[in-house]
Amino acid sequence: MEKIKNYINGAFLPPNSNNYFNNYNPSTGEVYSMIPDSTEEDVQLAVDSSKKAFPVWSELSAEKRSEYLLRIAEIINKYSEKLAVAETVDNGKPLWLSKSVDIPRAVKNFEFFASAIKHFSSEAHSTDKNTLNYTLRQPVGIIGAISPWNLPLYLFTWKIAPALAAGNCVIGKPSEITPMTSYMLSEICIEAGLPGGVLNIVHGYGNTAGKAVVSHPEIKAITFTGGTSTGREISKIASPMFKKLSLELGGKNPVIIFSDCRYDEMLETTVNSSFRNQGEICLCGSRIFIEKNLYKKFRDDFIKRVSQLTVGDPLLDSSNLGAIVSKQHFEKILYYIELAKTEGGKILCGGNPVKINGRCDGGWFIEPAVIEGLSSDCRTNQEEIFGPVVTIIPFENEEEVLQMANSTEYGLASVIWTENLSRAHNLSAKIKSGIVWINCWMVRDLRTPFGGVKNSGIGREGGLEALRFFTEPKNVCIKY
Ligand code: NDP
Repeated sequence: MEKIKNYINGAFLPPNSNNYFNNYNPSTGEVYSMIPDSTEEDVQLAVDSSKKAFPVWSELSAEKRSEYLLRIAEIINKYSEKLAVAETVDNGKPLWLSKSVDIPRAVKNFEFFASAIKHFSSEAHSTDKNTLNYTLRQPVGIIGAISPWNLPLYLFTWKIAPALAAGNCVIGKPSEITPMTSYMLSEICIEAGLPGGVLNIVHGYGNTAGKAVVSHPEIKAITFTGGTSTGREISKIASPMFKKLSLELGGKNPVIIFSDCRYDEMLETTVNSSFRNQGEICLCGSRIFIEKNLYKKFRDDFIKRVSQLTVGDPLLDSSNLGAIVSKQHFEKILYYIELAKTEGGKILCGGNPVKINGRCDGGWFIEPAVIEGLSSDCRTNQEEIFGPVVTIIPFENEEEVLQMANSTEYGLASVIWTENLSRAHNLSAKIKSGIVWINCWMVRDLRTPFGGVKNSGIGREGGLEALRFFTEPKNVCIKY
């Protein structure tokens, strides 16, 4: 069985402990590879190699670093077919989605930051006729990048690319649940000739390998995407060490639908914003609020559309939804569906485990579920489920829907469907989330700030925000 290896100092290494643990294929439930159980010792080796690499890497011209990033992008592109299959096997998502979104986006992340670093500039302030201030933007040093399982290569590269572009060295810790494409990225970096130690990838459990990255005193900044409770744990360790922190955390995103919306477009997009990637996207809308006079029509049409979705073998083009990423997550989602029933929710469609005969009969599949009849303050509507489960709730007016939309601890993204421009602007200003989509969903421009408010995180990534996070500003004041 294939053993994944750590990528340290430009070469593959087994974990110091020589221990490995199982990597499952969620669509079959079978173990198909082994993951290094890395510890502090492995992280220390990675830090040592990054310390050696940093002086040369950080002093390369932006143009030169950009060339390395472009080479990596090119090689990801070359192996895109193989990477897409690997992502689907590891995560359970449909292959068409890995091919159309995950892998192309990993290419774009490298291409985008290869270009962005060449356009990055800093400020200058002329204070009086003899005094000039200018701000140097220097790399932070060694960055810890910890990423989740839902968009494995997509989110891992979203952190690595800007950090490297800005002249830092990176120690990446991908999710233990989906390590395969980040392992393949190490092979790609070797092929691209990236100097040893510039990027290290250490595999293992979050509370050992991940914690060792967060705790290491020579890792000066942590970029983390994952759950809110993990973010809190990371913050407890990193904050007293005064590390820079960028935390992209959970969500419970509202979708607000007014009766004046472009109906067909809204319906189709809402099916996607609910169930794309099995609902395992932090930006999926899980609480759907519908204006009362449209509620019945929407409910009937939505259920009809959702019932037509096919849950199946993720390798088949006909599958709209694939497998849930792990047995543990599968059980968590089913727990929440049961909870919704005890809270008085009516399951309008789906919500059952799906048995798929043949190759996938041991896999973890769930029918997409639509639930009605729940108050907006019950647990089902407050806690992140992160699966193919949405609730639908009618509302009377803007004031009421705004109060319900803002009533959770989260504030990542929101979606508003209306043709009334004043209302769209008014609600966008008042809604408490880092991202608002009006009459669309998941339209991404990599130049825009990305992140959440409240317990959905701190800091923003994307565009120049990312390059600012991965650099330290130093003000130089000259009297002449
Ligand atoms: P987790 O928080 O469980 O894990 C995220 C990463 O952190 C994994 O690599 C994990 O490793 C690691 N980790 C776990 N414990 C620690 C620790 N104590 N110290 C350091 N690292 C640790 O999240 P999931 O992987 O389950 O991802 C789902 C969550 O991510 C959802 O809440 C979702 O909303 C959020 N998310 C947010 C996004 C955003 O942009 N705001 C985007 C995508 C997802 P391991 O897997 O080995 O445990």
